[in-house]
Amino acid sequence: MTSEVFTGNFTQQEPIPEAAIEAAVAVMRSGRLHRYNTLPGEKGEVALLEEEFAAVTRAKYALAVASGGYALGCALRALEVQPGEPVLTNAFTLAPVPGAIASVGARPVFVGVTEGLVIDLDDLQVKISESGAKVLMLSHMRGHIADMDALMYICNGAGVAVIEDCAHTMGAAWDGVPSGRHGIIGCYSTQTYKHINSGEGGLLVTDEDEIAARAIMLSGSYMLYPKHTAGPAPEVFEKIKYDTPNVSGRMDHLRAAILRVQLQNLTSQVDNWNARYRMVEEGLADVPGLTRIVRPQQERFVGSSIQFLLLDWPDEKIEAVVAGCGKRGVDLKWFGAAEPVAFTSRYDSWRYADPQPLPDSDRVLRAIVDMRLPLTFSLEDCATLARIIRDEVAAVAECA
Ligand SMILES: *Cc1c(COP(=O)(O)O)cnc(C)c1O
Repeated sequence: MTSEVFTGNFTQQEPIPEAAIEAAVAVMRSGRLHRYNTLPGEKGEVALLEEEFAAVTRAKYALAVASGGYALGCALRALEVQPGEPVLTNAFTLAPVPGAIASVGARPVFVGVTEGLVIDLDDLQVKISESGAKVLMLSHMRGHIADMDALMYICNGAGVAVIEDCAHTMGAAWDGVPSGRHGIIGCYSTQTYKHINSGEGGLLVTDEDEIAARAIMLSGSYMLYPKHTAGPAPEVFEKIKYDTPNVSGRMDHLRAAILRVQLQNLTSQVDNWNARYRMVEEGLADVPGLTRIVRPQQERFVGSSIQFLLLDWPDEKIEAVVAGCGKRGVDLKWFGAAEPVAFTSRYDSWRYADPQPLPDSDRVLRAIVDMRLPLTFSLEDCATLARIIRDEVAAVAECA
């Protein structure tokens, strides 16, 4: 076995583009950082970002907020989800998703995951009828998009509103429709590890007048909603402005300024991610015991991370692969670990939710191995990563 070692940093993103730094400096020089602090006739960076994001996603309305998790909670509040109400969501997701449901006092109801790492549509139908839930918070976890035509057919038929968590699918699409545009609300994150980077930040899109108005009021617009050029007409706010609480979570001009430049580059960045993804994916072909994830034809994905399965492997062997790769500089995350580690946790570690056994999903979750692909990795780096993983998987598979 070779002893090739990888020395790249899995959490190192690219620098902020120079044009974005200049835009940020201009905001700081102005002293006007708050989104409503604008000169007469000036829209400001935040409203401009919202206009541009609405155009990119072909949405009627967009709202920039403080984080992706805030966007998810705001979406639930805008749909007037009540305390105690069941809300469906993926068993395979990250903690801010059930966390958003808990933040409004609602009850997460977990839906299983398939070997393709998307929500299990058969289980979705079962859980809709068992729980009577009227909202699905759908997480396109790690960028895997379910058959959205089939999913929307099920949800529309059952009167279930869909909120899309697009933290890993900004820039992605299903059958030509931008991710976040099948459901009633789409939510995105602009946190450092996502597809455009403002440290923290989020966006929410919808075509619905009243939902957009409620989301804007919720985000902390006071009575300054006419400044939202990517929002509905002032009449719409008249209907909801006295009944919608202010739950402040605005974005500021500084973050918006650096995001606007990055948004313009998003399409080419997606190509850069996918070239890296394909390099690793090819390098992992025909490894006995390792299952690659088949990507559907209709899915335009963003390969900012890659997953593979070690299906039905005993825990010790999966741990040995993760440890062996780790020693050689390859940072793999295992979703099957009993204790939550860093960003990785299992649905049964969110103990504020009722215990909900999902044996079929447990088999898949136990098998998921995950690796980030920051754009600071070159294509050669990606080939190296695949070679090391191949070696380590083969070495562990061979020993009895
Ligand atoms: C990052 C993330 C979020 C939340 O985004 P923040 O901006 O960190 O609040 C939601 N869902 C998933 C799947 C995420 O990875």
